[in-house]
Amino acid sequence: MELLPLSRGADASDITVAREIEKLKRRVIWSERAGTDSWRQISFLYRVADRFGSRVFDHTFCRGEIGATGCSTGTCCRCRPDVFAYEQKVLDLLPKRLDDTGYCPFFNLVRKNCGIYGVRPFACRIYFNLAASAHYCRNPNDMTLQMFDNLKPHLEKILGAYAGGYGG
Ligand code: SF4
Ligand code: SF4
Repeated sequence: MELLPLSRGADASDITVAREIEKLKRRVIWSERAGTDSWRQISFLYRVADRFGSRVFDHTFCRGEIGATGCSTGTCCRCRPDVFAYEQKVLDLLPKRLDDTGYCPFFNLVRKNCGIYGVRPFACRIYFNLAASAHYCRNPNDMTLQMFDNLKPHLEKILGAYAGGYGG
């Protein structure tokens, strides 16, 4: 099944991103077959997510916003990150901020970057602004929403039940 029905007039970046989304879905399904060792499966899954990020980055709005020290605003982290059961348990063990800024409890407000980058959830790893304006940093566009919805049942087989936004 194609995740993104390409409309007439889709540009080269749209096509590249759509192809990478298809590859991502195939690789997520492969990770279900990465043996019976759940750690190995999760590790494979996160590598797949990071690989997707490195391939689509040049075709995202983020490319113009992210410098050597990260994104200048970190607006997309003004949220509760989507997590699955396994990830929720991991995040529960980590120190976090308790405040009313609206930012994710793991966002480093001083450095404006993720304070748990190495163990951030799958959803954060694949989240990029795939549209053309900053509005979509906090409001995932249809392509992003469709991608996550399509991946969710496969992710649940490895990461456990979808648990919604962390801390919600
Ligand atoms: S989605 Fe927006 S806020 Fe998040 S990293 Fe990309 S440009 Fe920065
Ligand atoms: S876990 Fe990290 S990347 Fe994800 S929303 Fe929180 S600060 Fe941002």
